[in-house]
Amino acid sequence: MSPLFQAAQGGFLDLFPEGAELTRLAGDFTWTEGPCWIPARGCVVFSDVRQDRTWRWTPGSGLAEEMNPSRHQNGHCLDAQGRLVACSHGDRAVLRQEEDGRWTTLASEWQGQRLNSPNDVALSPDGSLWFSDPTYGIDKPEEGYGGEMELPGRYVFRIAPDGTLSCPITDRHKPNGLAFRSANELLLSDTGDQAATHLYRIDGDRAEHQGGFFQVDQGKTDGLRVDADGRIWSSAGDGVHVFSPQGEELGRILLPETAANLCFGGADGTELFITASTGLYHLPTRVRGW
Ligand code: MG
Repeated sequence: MSPLFQAAQGGFLDLFPEGAELTRLAGDFTWTEGPCWIPARGCVVFSDVRQDRTWRWTPGSGLAEEMNPSRHQNGHCLDAQGRLVACSHGDRAVLRQEEDGRWTTLASEWQGQRLNSPNDVALSPDGSLWFSDPTYGIDKPEEGYGGEMELPGRYVFRIAPDGTLSCPITDRHKPNGLAFRSANELLLSDTGDQAATHLYRIDGDRAEHQGGFFQVDQGKTDGLRVDADGRIWSSAGDGVHVFSPQGEELGRILLPETAANLCFGGADGTELFITASTGLYHLPTRVRGW
């Protein structure tokens, strides 16, 4: 289908090849999330959080089941060695997949109390992994295996390259999607009542709030990504909103359903994969993920 673009500034359409087609690669899911392109396997892995499964889509061969049950995995990223890292609502943990396919637990508790339900994870240029820990996976029976909140809040944690866990961000209501745009700048969406995406200045395992950075006016920002030129690609209630590095809206890719997350991938890193409610969408671009 022809993509529905809504430009807010000149030049927005130049981000896409002429005649770019928006494709619904697969559908019939319940709540898709956590897309991650895995270069070594040439596929995108994503979650259907509520269906308790993960799936992969491979150019040429299409859709296949990845894990069933997935223990309600949600967000994914690659670590500095290219291994898949997963947020598991069901295990209330962040896990890493080893070469033999088995999962190693990287974080499951903080100061003796279980994590809530890790939601999304991002790799920092310094090799650390940062993840958000809201309570959706224990509050919503369809998104996990239930349980009580043990921690006093909903935080963002950092797993250092040596495995040490720290808790740099404690001032958000419902921290969710994360994206680094440099070694010392982190964008973090908050899907609480005052939904917005915030900017933090990062120094090692310290994070300093710089204020709200942008806010989508349709739904909320859940997952987000940064491209190689510093633009921010945010999920939203009506699709994907693209912002300049300064946080001004450049335009939108309108979708018929709510987008929860997205990633860049494909052989050259320019293809956009969007997890939007019941579907996985694909759109070629002329930019590359950072
Ligand atoms: Mg999320």
